Amino acid sequence: MLAQRPTLADLAGQQWDLIVVGGGITGAGVLLEAARQGRKALLLEQRDFAWGTSSRSSKMVHGGLRYIAQGDVRLTRDALRERERLLRDLPGLVERATYLFPLRKGRFPGRWPMTAVLSLYDFLAGIRDHRFLSRKELLRRVPGLDDTGLSGAMSYTDALTDDCRLVIRCLLEAARAGGQSLNYARVTGTRRDDGVTRVLVRDEVAGEEGELSAPVVINATGAWANRLGDDNGQGPRIRPLRGSHLFVDPQRLPVDDCLTVMHPRDGRPVFVFPWEGVTCVGTTDLDHGDDLDLEASASGAEVDYLLELVNGQFPAARLTRDDVLSTMAGVRPVIASGDGKDPSKERRDHAVWERDGLVTVSGGKLTTFRLIALDALAAAGLLDPRSARRARRSNAPLFRPLPEAPPQVDAFLHGAQDDDALLRWVLRNEAVVHLDDLLLRRTRLGLLRRDGGEGLAERLRHLSAELLGWDDTRWGQEWARYQDLRARFYGVPPVERAAA
Ligand SMILES: Cc1cc2nc3c(=O)[nH]c(=O)nc-3n(C[C@H](O)[C@H](O)[C@H](O)COP(=O)(O)OP(=O)(O)OC[C@H]3O[C@@H](n4cnc5c(N)ncnc54)[C@H](O)[C@@H]3O)c2cc1C
Repeated sequence: MLAQRPTLADLAGQQWDLIVVGGGITGAGVLLEAARQGRKALLLEQRDFAWGTSSRSSKMVHGGLRYIAQGDVRLTRDALRERERLLRDLPGLVERATYLFPLRKGRFPGRWPMTAVLSLYDFLAGIRDHRFLSRKELLRRVPGLDDTGLSGAMSYTDALTDDCRLVIRCLLEAARAGGQSLNYARVTGTRRDDGVTRVLVRDEVAGEEGELSAPVVINATGAWANRLGDDNGQGPRIRPLRGSHLFVDPQRLPVDDCLTVMHPRDGRPVFVFPWEGVTCVGTTDLDHGDDLDLEASASGAEVDYLLELVNGQFPAARLTRDDVLSTMAGVRPVIASGDGKDPSKERRDHAVWERDGLVTVSGGKLTTFRLIALDALAAAGLLDPRSARRARRSNAPLFRPLPEAPPQVDAFLHGAQDDDALLRWVLRNEAVVHLDDLLLRRTRLGLLRRDGGEGLAERLRHLSAELLGWDDTRWGQEWARYQDLRARFYGVPPVERAAA
């Protein structure tokens, strides 16, 4: 479905209504909505689909309790409605999960403020799902949790997903409606003349350069948004904020529910939750000063910070770096307030701005991708305000089942990711160019297994020979590339002195 890789010459020969730059959830959402509106649209991604932030989030499809606590009721309401829609449309890929918020005596927030916030939260979502758990019940559900001052917990529900699979699912759905997408296609510049925007593209696979054009181009490059186009510094500025996660051996830290716990150092909420068979801990939130051309990676200080949290909350666990299977860091494209706020206090809303035929959309959340896409299409003049309003309110399904796919594709959160039928589907239909696309994003085998997938190497070598035509030389290159990337950007960095 995404498998036939077109050449730039093929693409240049077609008349596009819209070119979308950036293959994260925002770009994929824009492509999907544009294709559904009957527009001829093309998406270009410089690396792999979801290589940027959209494979590195906290995997939560949620309203965000934090936003409601900050008084941002509109953002929370929109996100909760989108959550309910995704739960309905993508069972197995977006799943309701129980969240527990332990309460400790003398600590804010207490039971009654939390009850008030959760009542509003559920009301906005149109459900009633929160309740108080006694201390005893909580300790039965979360054995090993530090019981100092513990008075119980608030229980409520939100949802979990696999963010990269969500992007791929949008691209597959867009393809069904005629939307095209190409990974490893870097846009190196844009230029406006004669009422069209010209896009210079480098096909990183073929090693070719070309020029494509469309009346309008949407820049959905997230944290990279200020690099494309020249708005003379007049548009909003992106403040790249890094958030890192640890994937921990579930034998060493088993959890069945998503826990929100406060870091002893700075009181920031951090999640400890079950994800695709392992335990995930995150996130940090700090200014990201590294080169955006490199993959983001967790620092040693961030690993220490997260281990400190876990060992404080689960004193008997005594986790060390050896218990961490892998790490993952992402860069949040936050619209800077410009007043040097604490990173965690910056708003998470999106912004859309236009200059010279280039509409830029950045910021926001995974959860609200559909609404962000509609805003971007309206700003691009591809949706009139009335249709945009109607589309926002529409309850029509955005996704339909993929009858040709094995059931594991739509039941990913539980699926055995090394299942033969799933691997074959992915290799045939999901535009895998490199082995790391398969092991780090289409599946998460490289992150979830202690051996990084080494035990599967022989099987994968055969499958990629059969389905992608890789010979032994190519396999050797791909395996070396994957091992190098995994070690440099997804490994467990050594202890550092600096604070997170
Ligand atoms: C640590 C962390 C946790 C988060 N947790 C959650 C959560 O639990 N729930 C939630 O709803 N949201 C969450 N978010 C927010 C959410 O992940 C992001 O808002 C979202 O993924 C941004 O998507 P995007 O498509 O705008 O950006 P990206 O996913 O970064 O996509 C932009 C793409 O543009 C590509 N690109 C850049 N330049 C070019 C170019 N010149 N040519 C072609 N392509 C280019 C990049 O390679 C990249 O793939 C989290 C974010 C972070 C960092």
